[in-house]
Amino acid sequence: MFKAPRDVPFSCSCGTVTGTLRGASPAIGNHLECFCKDCRAAEVYSGQPDTPSVALFQTTPDRIVFDRGADQLAVFSFGETNILRWHTKCCGSVIGNTLRNPKIAFSSIRVALLSQPDALGRVTTKAFYKTVKGKPQHKGMARFVWGVFSRVTAARVTGRWKDTPFFDPETLKPVQEVHVVPKAERAEITARLV
Ligand SMILES: [Zn+2]
Ligand SMILES: [Zn+2]
Repeated sequence: MFKAPRDVPFSCSCGTVTGTLRGASPAIGNHLECFCKDCRAAEVYSGQPDTPSVALFQTTPDRIVFDRGADQLAVFSFGETNILRWHTKCCGSVIGNTLRNPKIAFSSIRVALLSQPDALGRVTTKAFYKTVKGKPQHKGMARFVWGVFSRVTAARVTGRWKDTPFFDPETLKPVQEVHVVPKAERAEITARLV
């Protein structure tokens, strides 16, 4: 199903942090529903209620532009080498994820922040969801892996990876200090997930 690209505004739940997902359409990313423990723990850690899954749109960071309140961004991680999880200081809204290496132009934005989530089309990948037998599974993963690979490569070749609101392209450091959540705290949160 073709959907014309459009700029879609997004905002944290209190409205302090606002931005735009540029040229949003199903063709520029992957609409994923993630059931993994870390995505769920990230919600709880940020002060949000536990949720069975989190809908994310995975795309390149140059598509994500903050218009206001970027100084309210904070970043944490559930381990020294784990992905970076961005949320807001103002209201604890989870914004999305990036990898630790900005040259791999990969980021996700939480679909719930978007004013017009229909611009992304339907969910095409389900990650870590439990089957009846309780074994975590993925659905639509081949399309997902190929999509990420081709977009990341294009951004690397063109230098477009430098266009990111999350990193300083000179130092390659995140724009905020990364807080690594202590193991015990992560375990305590995970144990509370239903
Ligand atoms: Zn806020
Ligand atoms: Zn996840």
